[in-house]
Amino acid sequence: MNALAATNRNFRHAARILGLDSKLEKSLLIPLREIKVECTIPKDDGTLASYVGFRIQHDNARGPMKGGIRYHPEVDPDEVNALAQLMTWKTAVAHIPYGGAKGGIGCDPRDLSASECERLTRVFTQKIHDLIGIHRDVPAPDMGTNSQTMAWILDEYSKFHGHSPAVVTGKPIDLGGSLGRDAATGLGVVFATEALLAEYGKSISNMTFVIQGFGNVGSWAAKFVHQLGGKVVAVSDITGAVKNPNGIDIPALLKHKESTQSLKNFMGGDAMDPDELLVHECDVLMPCALGGVLNKENAADVKAKFIIEAANHPTDPEADEILSKKGVVVLPDIYANAGGVTVSYFEWVQNIQGFMWDEEKVNCELKRYMRRAFQDIKAMCHTHNCNLRMGAFTLGVNRVARATLLRGWEA
Ligand code: GLU
Repeated sequence: MNALAATNRNFRHAARILGLDSKLEKSLLIPLREIKVECTIPKDDGTLASYVGFRIQHDNARGPMKGGIRYHPEVDPDEVNALAQLMTWKTAVAHIPYGGAKGGIGCDPRDLSASECERLTRVFTQKIHDLIGIHRDVPAPDMGTNSQTMAWILDEYSKFHGHSPAVVTGKPIDLGGSLGRDAATGLGVVFATEALLAEYGKSISNMTFVIQGFGNVGSWAAKFVHQLGGKVVAVSDITGAVKNPNGIDIPALLKHKESTQSLKNFMGGDAMDPDELLVHECDVLMPCALGGVLNKENAADVKAKFIIEAANHPTDPEADEILSKKGVVVLPDIYANAGGVTVSYFEWVQNIQGFMWDEEKVNCELKRYMRRAFQDIKAMCHTHNCNLRMGAFTLGVNRVARATLLRGWEA
C-alpha cells in the first residue's frame, strides 16, 4: 500500500472514531495547496539538468504550515502529500501552533556537487518564495537536506523579502539556528521511548535495541540510548549493517562512520545482512530511515516487543495489523519523531523573540513537550479504547478539527 493510501486510511479510521462530520472529514483530508515546479540548473560540466520540485501545503488551521524538504530520487507527489498530512497531525499532537506541509525534489543528492546542490536549492526557492514565509509556511531539513540547504534557502528568500531567519528552521547556529536542533529528533525519540517503557515498568537501561538508519535521526538515537545504558545490538545504514550481541560501542561506531563514511569494516562487531536487521532478536526496534520498511512480507518475523517509529511512515497498515495480533507495541511516527519539529518551533520562537536559549533550556522544554504529548495520547487511547497509533491520530485530528470549526466556513 502506498504512503498516501495508508495515511488516508489511518486518518479515516480516526475520523470515524471521533464521529467527524463527512464534510469536515473531506476538508481535512484534501491539501490546501499543491505546488509543482520545474527546476533547471546548469551542471558543472555546462550541460543543463531539470528536476521536479514539490511543496504540498496540507493544512493551516492551527498556524503556519511546517515541514521538511527532502532530496531523494524516489520523491513523488503522493508520498509528499502523505508526509505533508502527517505533519499536520504531528504538529497538533506536539501541541505546537503549526499546520503541516512537506516538500521535495526528485534528485539523488549524492550525484550532485555542492555547487550543483546550491544552484538547485536556489532555483527551487525562487519558484516557491512567494508561497512560503514566517507566518505562512516554514520549511526545515528532511532526508537528503541539512543545515547548509536551509542556509541557501534563507539567503535566497531574503533577496526577495529582506533578512528573515524565521522562514526556515534547522539552520546553522551562525545564521540563527537553535542549539540542540541537530540532536532533537533522536533525543525526542529517546524521551518518547522512556515514556512508553515506563508504562510497562521498564527502562532503557535493561533493554536491547536494533536501530535501522545511522544518519540525522538514528545516530543521535543510538548515542542517547547508549548513554542511558541501553544495549544496541545491531545498527544499519545504506552502507551496511553491524551486530554485536554484547552491545555495540556507539561512540566508537560514530568515530568509525565519521572517518570512513561507512559502517563497513568496523572492528567492534560482525557484519550482517541489512535485510535481516528488522527481524533481528531485540526488545526495541527503531526504524530511523525510510518509509514502508515494515510490511506484510516481514512483519510476522519481527522479534521486538516494542517498535519506535523514528522514521516517517515506516509501518504500513497491513504490517500494523500483523504486529498488533502478535502483541507488538508500536509507538507511532507522528508522536515518536515529533522532537525535530518541536525544536524547530523553539528555533522559530527564538528568531521571532530575537533571543537565544541555551541548550539545557531547549532539551528541558523538549522533554516537557514529549512527556505531555504522551499523556495526551494515553488519555485518547483510554477514552476511545484504541491503540497508540489511533490515540495519536485522534488527538491530532481532533485538535485540527476543533480549530477548523472555530474559524468557521463562511466565504
Ligand atoms: N523533517 C522533520 C519531520 O519530518 C522536521 C520538520 C520540521 O522541523 O519542520 O518531522
